[in-house]
Amino acid sequence: MSIPDHFRALIISQPRDGGKATAKLATIPRESLPAQGEVLMQVFYSSLNYKDALAVTGQPKIVRSFPMVPGIDLAGIVVESSDSRFKRGDSVIATGWGLGERYWGGMADYASVKADWLLPVAPGLSLLTSMAFGTAGLTAMLSVLALEQSGMTSKSGREVLVTGASGGVGSFAIAFLHRRGYKIAAVSHRKSNHDYLINLGADSVIDLSEFLATFRQPLESERWAGAIDSVGGDVLSGLLSGMAYRSGVACCGLARGSEFSATVFPFILRGVRLIGIDSVYCPLEERKRAWEEIGKTRPLQGLEEITTFYSLEEVPELAQALLDGKLRGRSLITIAGAEKALVQ
Ligand code: NDP
Repeated sequence: MSIPDHFRALIISQPRDGGKATAKLATIPRESLPAQGEVLMQVFYSSLNYKDALAVTGQPKIVRSFPMVPGIDLAGIVVESSDSRFKRGDSVIATGWGLGERYWGGMADYASVKADWLLPVAPGLSLLTSMAFGTAGLTAMLSVLALEQSGMTSKSGREVLVTGASGGVGSFAIAFLHRRGYKIAAVSHRKSNHDYLINLGADSVIDLSEFLATFRQPLESERWAGAIDSVGGDVLSGLLSGMAYRSGVACCGLARGSEFSATVFPFILRGVRLIGIDSVYCPLEERKRAWEEIGKTRPLQGLEEITTFYSLEEVPELAQALLDGKLRGRSLITIAGAEKALVQ
C-alpha cells in the first residue's frame, strides 16, 4: 500500500474484562488497518455524529467489535483501487454502511472501504461541502424527499415541524425546507439557539417544554403539514396529535428515546403516515437522488453557521459535549490538514 508506515487513528478499545470502552488518538502501523474493501482512501474529513458520540464515550450497543475507529461518514481521495469504478485521485464520500460500528470509520488518516459504499462527490459539491452536509444532510434530504413523495407541498399554508432543530439533522432539515418554500416550526430545548434557527429559515421556534405541554388529547387541532423528527420518544408520540389530515412524519432519530407510545387515532382518523428514514441501509439510487438534490440546493443559507470545524485531537472531549447538548449543527472533523474555507 502506498501509505506511510504509520498514521493517526482514533481508536476505541474495550478492556479485557469487558468494561467501558474508551477512545484514544494513536499512531498505528499501516498493517493494522483492516482490509475492508477494494478502495484505499486518504481521509480528508469525517464528522462527529450522535452515534459517534455514543461510541466514543463508551456507551454500549453501538460498536460491534473492538478495536474500532469511529466516524460514520468520511470524505477523501482514492489512493488505491482494485475496482474499475474508482481510480487514484478521485474525490469520494461514504456515509453510513456500518462505518464506525462494524467497520473502521472516518476518524483516521486512511480508510479501507468497499467500492459499493462510495459515491463520487455530487455535481456542484466539493469534497468539503459534501462532508459539511454528510450523513446529517443526507438524512435531512431523504426526509424531505420522502415527505414530498407522500404528498407534502409548500402550498398547504401550514408549517412543517422540525424537532431536535439545532442538531445536525434538524439544522439541515430547516435549511432545505426553507429553500423549498416551506413555512417551518422548529422545536428546540435550548433558548440560546432561537436566533440561530430563525437565521436558518425557521418561521417560529417552540421551546421543547412548551411543546410537550400541548399534548393533551390523542387528536388536537390540525397544525402541521408534515414533520421531521430526530428526537423520538414522547416527542414523536405526542406530535402525532397535531398532524394535518394525510400528512407524513419522517421519523429519523431517537436522541430523546426509542419508546413509542401513541393511540391509533392519528393513523385511522387523520390518515397520518409514519415514514422511517434510514441513511445507513438506504439504496444507492435513493442516496444519489438525495445528493443530487443537495447539490442543487446551493448556495445554502446558513451552511457556514451550521458547520463547525474541529481536529481529531478534540474528538473525545467533543463527544461528551455533544451528548451534554452543548454543540449545535454539524461538527466536521478535519483529518489531513484540509482546507476549512467553505466556499459554496
Ligand atoms: P445531534 O446531537 O446533532 O442533534 C440532536 C438534537 O436533538 C440536539 O441538538 C437537540 O436539539 C435535540 N436533543 C438532544 N437530546 C434531546 C433530548 N433528550 N430531548 C429532546 N431533544 C433532544 O444529532 P444528529 O442531528 O446528528 O442526529 C439526531 C438523531 O438522528 C440521532 O438519534 C441520530 O442517531 C439520528 N440519525 C439518524 C440517521 C438515520 O439515518 N435515520 C442519520 C443521522 C442521525 P435542540 O437543542 O434543538 O433541542
